[in-house]
Amino acid sequence: MTDIKKINLLGLSPEKLIEFFESIGEKKFRATQVIKWIHQKGAESFDEMTDVSKALRAKLEQICEIRGPEVVSQNISADGTRKWIIRTEGDKNDCVEAVLIPDGDRATLCVSSQVGCSLDCSFCSTGKQGFNRNLTPAEIIGQVWIAIKSFGPMDPNGPRRVTNVVMMGMGEPLMNFEPVVDAMILMMHDHAYGLSKRRVTLSTSGVVPKIYELVKRTDVSLAVSLHAPNDALRNELVPINKKYPIAELLEACQFYLANLPDKRHITIEYTLMSGVNDNEEQAHELAELLQTLECKINLIPFNPFPHSGYEKPSNNRTRRFQKILADAGYTVTVRTTRGDDIDAACGQLVGDFHDKTRRSQKYIELREINS
Ligand code: SAH
Ligand code: SF4
Repeated sequence: MTDIKKINLLGLSPEKLIEFFESIGEKKFRATQVIKWIHQKGAESFDEMTDVSKALRAKLEQICEIRGPEVVSQNISADGTRKWIIRTEGDKNDCVEAVLIPDGDRATLCVSSQVGCSLDCSFCSTGKQGFNRNLTPAEIIGQVWIAIKSFGPMDPNGPRRVTNVVMMGMGEPLMNFEPVVDAMILMMHDHAYGLSKRRVTLSTSGVVPKIYELVKRTDVSLAVSLHAPNDALRNELVPINKKYPIAELLEACQFYLANLPDKRHITIEYTLMSGVNDNEEQAHELAELLQTLECKINLIPFNPFPHSGYEKPSNNRTRRFQKILADAGYTVTVRTTRGDDIDAACGQLVGDFHDKTRRSQKYIELREINS
């Protein structure tokens, strides 16, 4: 008998799970039972599903599985930040990272969407490594599953271990659209993780057509990685800007907000690089640019990695940039680095993987030349 690949139920959205049960001649409500077992109680086998008949459990056992991604390592930082290196299916070196950042009564999980990234932003170590492949829905939601399970058996009535999710790990989530949407639907679904739509945030470097599509499919919060107040500079830092310039990106943001059922804002992310995009004039230019957008600004002091060619600005420069924006009426936060001792900061997430774009090779050669 040939080995039939089992369907991994971990990554099926509620809608797809219903379709699956109907396709095997079972009632819809089975999907609700199973989804709760997997995502609220952390079941890894069908045996545990005591309210499902023995016959159905045996049938499921034969054709399906519940398989989370393999955890290569788990690190816990002195400040409580947890980081997982997760091996994805395929090449044995295909790894991504997930990071959980506790902060008072919140715990924010930073989730990866791709092994590497094809968009090649000049200051991002993931971008420097090139792209290998998209994660599956099971590998994306599996990061939430693993993070919650790291605290012990899952308990739907216990304390919430993950209160917020940000799609800000490795990869560009809008370049892996369907799997990311399915995983985010699970994050928010009452029968799965039940997170509020305000607490699930997708961060994009500006894949404009997909922003229009996203709002038709979900109502998650949107963060946009801007990093520059004009096209000339943004073209250098975020190459996708050459395809979708700032004006088009901001128009898509307006469309996104206008089509949400409730009033919300866009989070503008701006990584500050010393002497590149952090002077006073640029702060004023940014204030001017964002005037008509309902937004909050999150400044991220650049997190260094070897041979990046960029430096983090001094605290004084960062504060000055922040003040100019605040004086212009914006709410501006500065992201503090967490999990320093375990390399868990933005842009430091480094999977080890087989790079199809061969960009990593060019980067390594460049590092050698510069060192
Ligand atoms: N691809 C998406 C999401 C992942 S990156 C995006 O670009 O938005 C998450 C955030 O970290 C982005 O705002 C990105 O610009 C920022 N980032 C990347 N490298 C960084 C670095 N070295 N230092 C600080 N922020 C960085
Ligand atoms: Fe990709 Fe985001 Fe890094 Fe740019 S900043 S290379 S879009 S992961």
